[in-house]
Amino acid sequence: MERRTGSLQQRLLNSQQYVVYAASLTYVLFVLLVTLANPAGPVLQTFLAPRFGLAALLLLTSLLVWAEPQRLRQIYLLTYVGCLLTLVFEIPRVLSADQNLLQLFLWQSVNVPISFLILGSRWGLGANVLTLLTLLGSLTLHGPFSMAQLADWLTVSLTLTITTYVSYLIMTFIEGNLLTHEQDQGRLRAARQDALTMVYGRGAIEEELERAMNHSRQHNTPMSVIVTDIDHFKSVNDLYGHATGDDVLRAVAKRLRRAVGSGGGMVGRWGGEEFIVLLPGLAKPEALVVAERLRREISGQPLADLEITASFGVASYRGANDTADQLFGRADQAMYEAKNLGRNAVR
Ligand code: GH3
Ligand code: MG
Ligand code: MG
Repeated sequence: MERRTGSLQQRLLNSQQYVVYAASLTYVLFVLLVTLANPAGPVLQTFLAPRFGLAALLLLTSLLVWAEPQRLRQIYLLTYVGCLLTLVFEIPRVLSADQNLLQLFLWQSVNVPISFLILGSRWGLGANVLTLLTLLGSLTLHGPFSMAQLADWLTVSLTLTITTYVSYLIMTFIEGNLLTHEQDQGRLRAARQDALTMVYGRGAIEEELERAMNHSRQHNTPMSVIVTDIDHFKSVNDLYGHATGDDVLRAVAKRLRRAVGSGGGMVGRWGGEEFIVLLPGLAKPEALVVAERLRREISGQPLADLEITASFGVASYRGANDTADQLFGRADQAMYEAKNLGRNAVR
């Protein structure tokens, strides 16, 4: 069955990437602005300030994520540890210099929803609880502090806690919806699939046939169908049993699907031991070539240890007045001609 591109998972990964770029570059911009606003101080000391280290780390993070988007989670986790270490070293310095703690944690509060978006609810919760514990530990170890710092400390702890809580709720909601969506998709796929052969079931392939006809009508493009029916299948059941018959059906479907491959063709089970192949975009001569290839695929090698052949009928779209029923009827008719000609043939 075909895969739909642009799945929700892919969109989530894209969002995660953009969030990393946006947050990293905004922080770099912040560092540049702060440096421009406070040009005083020895140049070396300015550039050795932790915020420059952090800005460099975030730039590196963006570059790595850009190069290896599939490793985003791991890259982000390393960066998170880097941020945490920066906090561990910065807190005592800020406290002893009697500076404002709020600015240091303003950026950490931006990081809270990002961490949930990238790590998911469980790891996000773990990472943020660790941050809160680091904050608590550092401040306890490096006290005593002034009343103003105590007020800052409380403000920082409360805002980080509430942001963590809200982000956790939002992320569990998103994850719950993603799971439901995946389950619905799975059920929908299963409903459209023939349970025995895993190709499209009758209803789904009829729908696809109508869809392909409409497309040809609207864009005036060719399309063809191949109807195929296994030869003397009844004797397979009679001689080897129904289970072997099922194995043959599965093997035929698999071989048809593989042979139609990535060319945009669709395989469906019309019923019993009869299959249909839709070939949007293909006119009669090309469809006959495909059918001949399918015939050789089936008869070329034993299927479920049996020599199996099938007969094929090809029909092509004839223009705006043609209907799906008529098209299928012509292909079915051609298939019966192939049967009458001695089977294992294409008509
Ligand atoms: P022909 O070459 O003319 O097509 O002969 P045939 O024996 O293939 O044709 P017929 O239509 O008489 O036989 C079809 C058989 O397919 C009859 C039925 O028992 C069998 N069949 C239909 N569905 C299934 C199935 O799901 N599993 C199995 N094992 N057999 C099935
Ligand atoms: Mg048959
Ligand atoms: Mg039949």
